[in-house]
Amino acid sequence: MSALQILHRDPGSQARAGILRTGHGDVRTPAFVPLATKGTVKGLEPREVAALGYDMVLGNTFHLMLDPGPDLVEQFGGLHEFMRWSSPIITDSGGFQVFSMGHGTVADEIKGRAASGADRLGRVLSIDEDGVRFRSYVDGSEKYMAPETSMEVQAALGSDLALVFDECTPFNIDRDYTARSTERTHRWLNRCLSWHADHGPDGQLVYGIIQGGVHEDLRIESTLQVAARPVDGIAIGGSLGADKPQMYDVVGWATAALGDDARPRHLLGIGDVDDLIRGVELGIDTFDCAMPTRLGRHGVALVPDPGKRWRVDLTAARWKLSQEPIMEGCPCPSCESGFTRGYLRYLLRQRELTAVRLLTVHNLAFLARLMADLRGAIAAGTLAERAAALRAGALPRGAPTSVEPAELPELRRQP
Ligand SMILES: [Zn+2]
Repeated sequence: MSALQILHRDPGSQARAGILRTGHGDVRTPAFVPLATKGTVKGLEPREVAALGYDMVLGNTFHLMLDPGPDLVEQFGGLHEFMRWSSPIITDSGGFQVFSMGHGTVADEIKGRAASGADRLGRVLSIDEDGVRFRSYVDGSEKYMAPETSMEVQAALGSDLALVFDECTPFNIDRDYTARSTERTHRWLNRCLSWHADHGPDGQLVYGIIQGGVHEDLRIESTLQVAARPVDGIAIGGSLGADKPQMYDVVGWATAALGDDARPRHLLGIGDVDDLIRGVELGIDTFDCAMPTRLGRHGVALVPDPGKRWRVDLTAARWKLSQEPIMEGCPCPSCESGFTRGYLRYLLRQRELTAVRLLTVHNLAFLARLMADLRGAIAAGTLAERAAALRAGALPRGAPTSVEPAELPELRRQP
């Protein structure tokens, strides 16, 4: 039985709304998943993240493996206990980070990755069929990651959803390499599933990852390969293209090939407002991305302004005297408290941590309401109109913490 209970399907698209059941409670879908890369949503406490309407966060296997290490986290009772987050956690496999080192400094425009990835993350020493040897960015020591290593670390972390170890090929790599790499990713998928069947924690769901770069036949083949295996969920990873239209094509090939498959689907590393709307229409259930929290740390707030990519830079000089709120009509704690753009700009110039917290809260609240809005629209059968309005700059009006369709079965929460 699928961990995802689909409650509503949109007749005009592939969108679906439902509840993802995990060992630490339920996740309302479609959902955005904030990053808790190193065991915290930067600047916030877990209760604040939950209060914004989030059911799940994403921890990073690569970073947590290097520091503080899986053994230490396990001694604290697992990642939930260690970071004091009692709701669901998904952990990525570390594949993206490892291969970001190996494939050099390929900036992924769509995902907004920093071009200095290789320097920041350390160095790959070798990649072969067995796994990847690399130098730790933490202390320079030599480390090794194989499919089994990734699953073992995720088992120690005790995440609810584990992602299998895959090779993440960059956009500029040739088709031949992508084809061979995708086949290896499928062999690594088998090894991950085999390790998990013998040693994985009870109740931990395992997601396979679709690769195949920007090649339609490779993506479809990878989708069919992953779907044919006993995975609990399916993630779409790797390079999704050079621009948004190509990304929507790549995601669409995968979800079309999945058809009515009821298992949950996760889109890795995508979180722009227009991408979330399109992703939902394409049948994606969960998304993760550094965007809202990273923008917040850089003084950028999300606002309903499609012409400016839903962003406003509050460090700009034009806000010096502005007594406008971060966003007119926003019910988030930062805006409700009446903080002005002029004050935020001043705090940002002073590098005051309060500014980062206020903007992180606002940005996460914005996306939480967007996703609640989309969920509500799918349930009400009005997704087409609502998506068009949101794309045109409508205020997301979902109320993620309180109002949900009455027919939703009761959500399970961890005490
Ligand atoms: Zn706000």
